[in-house]
Amino acid sequence: MPMGLECDVLVAGSGASGFAAALTAAIDGLDVIMVEKADVFGGTTCFSAGVIWIPGSRQAREAGISDSREGVLSYLQAEAGNRLDRDKAEAFADNAASILDWFEANSHVSYMLSPAWSDYHPGQPGASKGGRSLGPRPFDGRTLGKWFDKLRPPLKTTTILGGMMVGREDLPQFFTMTKKLSSAQHVAKLFLRYAKDRVSYSRGTRLSNGNALVAMLARSAFERGVKLMLKTPVVELMTETGRVTGAVVEGPEGRRTIRARKAVVLACGGFPANDELRARLYDHVAAGKNHRTVAPADNTGDGIRLGRSLNVAVVEGQAQPAAWVPVSLVPQPDGTTIPFPHFIDRGKAGYIAVDKRGRRFINEAMSYHDFVPAMVEACRDDPDVHCHVICDSAGIRAYGLGAAPPRPGRLGPHIASGYIKRADTLTELAALCGIDAKGLSQTVSRLNKGAALGEDPEFGKGTDPYQRFNGSIGRSPNPCVAPIDRGPFYAVRLVPGDIGTFIGMRTDAHARALDTSGQPVAGLYVVGNDAASFMGGTYPGAGITLGPALVFGHLAARHISVGN
Ligand SMILES: Cc1cc2nc3c(=O)[nH]c(=O)nc-3n(C[C@H](O)[C@H](O)[C@H](O)COP(=O)(O)OP(=O)(O)OC[C@H]3O[C@@H](n4cnc5c(N)ncnc54)[C@H](O)[C@@H]3O)c2cc1C
Repeated sequence: MPMGLECDVLVAGSGASGFAAALTAAIDGLDVIMVEKADVFGGTTCFSAGVIWIPGSRQAREAGISDSREGVLSYLQAEAGNRLDRDKAEAFADNAASILDWFEANSHVSYMLSPAWSDYHPGQPGASKGGRSLGPRPFDGRTLGKWFDKLRPPLKTTTILGGMMVGREDLPQFFTMTKKLSSAQHVAKLFLRYAKDRVSYSRGTRLSNGNALVAMLARSAFERGVKLMLKTPVVELMTETGRVTGAVVEGPEGRRTIRARKAVVLACGGFPANDELRARLYDHVAAGKNHRTVAPADNTGDGIRLGRSLNVAVVEGQAQPAAWVPVSLVPQPDGTTIPFPHFIDRGKAGYIAVDKRGRRFINEAMSYHDFVPAMVEACRDDPDVHCHVICDSAGIRAYGLGAAPPRPGRLGPHIASGYIKRADTLTELAALCGIDAKGLSQTVSRLNKGAALGEDPEFGKGTDPYQRFNGSIGRSPNPCVAPIDRGPFYAVRLVPGDIGTFIGMRTDAHARALDTSGQPVAGLYVVGNDAASFMGGTYPGAGITLGPALVFGHLAARHISVGN
C-alpha cells in the first residue's frame, strides 16, 4: 500500500458542493485534499446550467427587488408541506445571500440576476415572480492552465460545433440573431472566439453555465492550495472511537489512506446512475418502465453507501425521489445515444406534447419536474413511458426542437439520424411517430381555435410568469401559445429522465451527518445531492440544488474550521 496522506479536511467529490466546502475550508486556513472518482472534475455540476436559487441577493436588491425571510420560508413550506426540513430551510434563508456575497468577495465566483425568472409555482404563498434565480457569468477556461483539460466538458448535446458553449444568457441572442443586429453581432463574436480557441484547445474556452461555476470555484480553490486527486474514489471511511478520521481511497497507485485531522465531507453527487437504487426508489422504474439519467455515470451513490456503513440515516419519503426532466435521446455515430434535457422548448408558442393517443396531458410550459410525473401518469397503461413534442415549421425555424437548432442551424442531420421526424401533414407525422392520427388532429384543431385568441382553454398554457418567462420572445398576448398550422410538421420523442437525486442522507443545519437516532456522526459532513433535499423532493425554482450546494458546502466548512 502506498504511503498514507494527511490533511485537515478530506472532501470526496468535486462538484459545486465539494468545491464550496473545500474552498471555504482552505480560505479559513485549513489544509484540504479533494478526491474525485472520475478522470475529470466537476461532476453533474459541469452538465448543469449553473443557476443558483439564492433569495434576497445583493444583485436582486440592486435591481430593486425586495424579498423577505418570511416570504422565502412560506413559499418553501407551501411547496414541501410537512416534508420541509425546517431547520435547514431557516439556515438557508438566513445565510444564502451573505454566503453568495462571501464567495463573490473571496473567490472568482461571479453571478448575475435574471430578474424575470419567476419561481416555478408563482401562485403559491411567498413565491417570487422574479429575483431569486441567478446565473454564472461566463468564465475564461484558459485561466485554469493545465487543469482546463481535466474539467468535465458540458453535455455534448448542448454544445455547438462539437465544443462551443452557449450560456442561458446567450439564448435570446441566438433566437433573435436573424432579426436584430446586436444579437447577430453577439453571436458572431462567440463564433469568432470559438474559432480562435480551436487552434489551441480541444473545445471552447469561453465557459458558461455549470462549467463556468466549477471553473470559478476550482481556480479559486487551486489558488488557495486545495489539492485535487482524480481517479481516486473514497472506498471506505476510517473511524476511531466513533469519530470519522479519514478514508481509504483507491487511486491509480492502488489503495491508500488519507487521514483527516478535522473532518471528511461527502459530496459524491447522489445516486442518479445507480440502477439498483433507481429500480427500488423510482416508482415508474420499479414498475418496469424506462428511464434515462442526464447525470454522469460516476454518480452511483457511493456517498450514501459510505454513510450507511456508519449508520447515517437516509430520508426516503420525499415527494419525488429525484429531480425529473423529460429527455430526448440523440443518436451518435457509434450507435449510442446522449440525452438532451428539455427545459425550455416545450414552453414556446406552437409547441405541444402528446401521448400516443394524440392527447395533451399537461400544460407544457410547467416545470420539467412537474412534466415527468404527468407523462408517467398519461402512460400508466402503456408498456413504456414516452410522448412527442410537436411543432410546425414556424416553430422549428425560430426555436429548434430539442437538440435540433433553430435557423440557420442545420436540421438535416437530425432528420437523417431519425432524431427528428418530419412530415408534410399531421396525419403523416402521426404515422411516423406511432401516434393516433385522429386523436392528434382533434387535439391540434382544439389548440388552434384557442391559439387564434392567444388562449389555451384546455391547459392554460402561458397563464403565469414562470411559463411566460420561457415563452416565445416578443409574442403577445400570450408568448406560450400559437397555432400549429404551417407544414411541414416536426416531432421529437421524449422519455422520463432526471438531473440528480433528492433522496439522500439526513443532515443538520451545519451539514453534519445524522445517524438513525438523530445524533451527529463526529467528523462527518454531507453536502450537495448526497444530502436529502431539505425541500422534501419538491422543485420550487431554478437553481434549487446548486444554491443549497454552495450554502451548505460553505456552512459545513465553517463548522469544521471553528472546531467541532
Ligand atoms: C443538464 C443539467 C442541468 C442542470 N441545471 C441545474 C441548474 O441550473 N441549477 C441547479 O441548481 N441544478 C441544476 N442541475 C442539477 C445539478 O447539476 C446537481 O444537482 C448538482 O450539480 C449536484 O452537485 P453535487 O456537488 O452534489 O454533485 P456533482 O456535481 O455530481 O459532483 C459529485 C462528484 O462526486 C464524484 N464521486 C462520486 N463518487 C465518489 C467517490 N466515491 N469518491 C470521490 N468522488 C466521487 C463524482 O464523480 C462527481 O464528480 C442540472 C443538472 C443537469 C444534468
